[in-house]
Amino acid sequence: MKNVFGGALLFFSAVGFAAAQLPIDPELAAEIAKIKAIDNHAHPVRPFLGGDKDTDYDALPVEVMDPYTEPVRTREGSPLVIQAWRELFDYRYEDRAPEHVKELQERKKQLMKEKGEGYANWVLDQVGIDTMFANRVAMGKGISPPRFLWVPFEDALMYPLNNSSLAAKNSDYKTFYADEERLLKRYLKECGYTTPPVMLDEYLKKVVTSTLERHKRGGAIAVKFEAAYLRSLEFDNTSRAEAMRLYYGSRGTPIPDAAYKKLQDFIFRYIARECGRLGLAVHLHAAAGAGGYFHVAGANPMRLESVLNDPTLRKTNFVMIHGGWPFTREVAALLSKPNAYADFSEQTFMNYPRAVAQAIREWLEYAPEKVLFATDAYPFSEEMYWEEAAWVGATTGRQALGLALTEMMHDGEITRERAMELAHMVLRDNARKLYKWE
Ligand SMILES: [Zn+2]
Repeated sequence: MKNVFGGALLFFSAVGFAAAQLPIDPELAAEIAKIKAIDNHAHPVRPFLGGDKDTDYDALPVEVMDPYTEPVRTREGSPLVIQAWRELFDYRYEDRAPEHVKELQERKKQLMKEKGEGYANWVLDQVGIDTMFANRVAMGKGISPPRFLWVPFEDALMYPLNNSSLAAKNSDYKTFYADEERLLKRYLKECGYTTPPVMLDEYLKKVVTSTLERHKRGGAIAVKFEAAYLRSLEFDNTSRAEAMRLYYGSRGTPIPDAAYKKLQDFIFRYIARECGRLGLAVHLHAAAGAGGYFHVAGANPMRLESVLNDPTLRKTNFVMIHGGWPFTREVAALLSKPNAYADFSEQTFMNYPRAVAQAIREWLEYAPEKVLFATDAYPFSEEMYWEEAAWVGATTGRQALGLALTEMMHDGEITRERAMELAHMVLRDNARKLYKWE
């Protein structure tokens, strides 16, 4: 009787609801809660302190997409939002009554004013994150080291030719390619050009390498590709001669998509090689993504295998951001490549803790030193802004990790000491080793 009644009560309490019945070892849970995490991937937004609104949190902002079916957890009206409000902003309600939401917005504004440039750091403190990797076009006031480390975008460099045929495929692509063209213009300008130089060699040296080196000098610890939003993750090994011919021969006029892809593939591998030389890890969105036109099969991390197997790219570390979902078992197999890593961001947002735990347990059983914690904190909507998303990602991530380690412990695979050690590795130590960063 007690249980049934308790269950019914919990149903009405957003906080109790989600916390209920996750069989995580209490000692392990306490330890995991204490560890100040390194967040391998997120999109924090600069606090609004007057002036221009921050638009640098993504190279391809997703709020402009065609309507599509969102997973239940992230839909408007998700109880997770209220939980996040209660935990972060002392929200006292269990509902979204307009007057309550208004009170919350006032509270947020007040906090931002009080904390000023320290607001984002304060958010990190609330969610137990020590350092957040900020995947942004540029850093800025209020989002700065040492709490935030920069991961800039390099996709734009892959599209120096006429993109009209690619952009014509659907309305999402139209926006995305326009975004990339705008960013390439910015990069060109920063290199002293208004249009891409005529010869590929000059483009590679004076634009691509220059941009990567400038990003490195600007504090980048890794670079990010959102390629899966634009094309397949299959980057073939195009010869230099063919790339030169394609680049030079197609000035201004669109070339067939398949031919253009070969050039993009060449540029991608060039960038990856340069990143190895510069000590920058390469982050790739490798998972299903937002939008009704997203090509899920094209984002299967197995498509990266020829890149991971390229001996000339073995000095480059690749991180499969979002850990390949739904192809998480494929990721486990790919972790056997010496330069392959994975984080479980996004999964912690779209999926429930048990599903995430199942996915990451296989990685933890296989190559635990290559598993990274991340939130993908992103300003998804007005009510699920980057702060709320950070809370959801951090909370679900810790629960999933706790569940996976508890199960491994119960099955006699690891000792309690090893479980504790693995928790520290996933939340902190693996990242510190990978990025050779103290
Ligand atoms: Zn992201």
